[in-house]
Amino acid sequence: MNLPRQMLAANAEWAEETLARDPLFFKELSQGQNPQVLWIGCSDSRVPAETITHCQPGDLFVHRNIANLFPPDDDNCASVLEYAVRVLKVGHVIVCGHYGCGGVRAALLPPSPELPHVNRRIAPLCALAQMHRHELDVHASEDGRINRLAELNVLEQVQRLRDTAIVRESRPAPLVHGWIFSLDDGRINVVASGYSGDEPASA
Ligand code: ZN
Repeated sequence: MNLPRQMLAANAEWAEETLARDPLFFKELSQGQNPQVLWIGCSDSRVPAETITHCQPGDLFVHRNIANLFPPDDDNCASVLEYAVRVLKVGHVIVCGHYGCGGVRAALLPPSPELPHVNRRIAPLCALAQMHRHELDVHASEDGRINRLAELNVLEQVQRLRDTAIVRESRPAPLVHGWIFSLDDGRINVVASGYSGDEPASA
């Protein structure tokens, strides 16, 4: 069986099992969504938001892109935030990066001529690396530099989100959190506890 067929077969099995476990599951799911969290994560196949946090359909409103970036002038990202905050009224926005991120690694290497879209996309990450070059150079290994830049990148996106009018003008404002996932042990580290503007800090 080819892979897409396997996936369709697995889906049928999942739907059947889910219904057997909870006969009202799909009835409730089809009534509408009420997620409490907007998740902004990396597209990396190893960091699936729902799987690593034991969340279910309906729990997370998700946006993923290379290196979990939130460029302020990007309508794709901004529309997701706008809808999540103003319509769904999520209480939390979580930026989750990960160690060993390929997008972050690329920002520390010369641009690849085969990847013009990626190069443009990660340009702000290259600028961030340049801004923090002294701190990054402290790390002897490439992995150390990549992982520190991955953390700095999460902090940068958290700040950008907190600076948006969408977050600042919402009452109550959603709490913006910065997390990093480790591929080595599956654990998430908090790099920015959730607070927004003058909200009290809380994780
Ligand atoms: Zn990544």
